Amino acid sequence: MLNGLRHRCPNCGEGRLFTSYLKVAPACEVCGLSFAAQKPDNGPAYFTILLMCHIAGFLLHFMIVYSD
Ligand SMILES: [Zn+2]
Repeated sequence: MLNGLRHRCPNCGEGRLFTSYLKVAPACEVCGLSFAAQKPDNGPAYFTILLMCHIAGFLLHFMIVYSD
């Protein structure tokens, strides 16, 4: 669970889950565990956008409230 959040292999915790930010590796480079069953799709991008929207909305709120 924690290894998945850290983008690390869930089996050995060493190999990287992603070859780049959005591309999932076909298998762990350390222990060889296949990541084919795991499909994050656009998970990282989705969470990044969600986080950015929250930050933007938060800032917008203060901009409107304290705009006088
Ligand atoms: Zn591994």
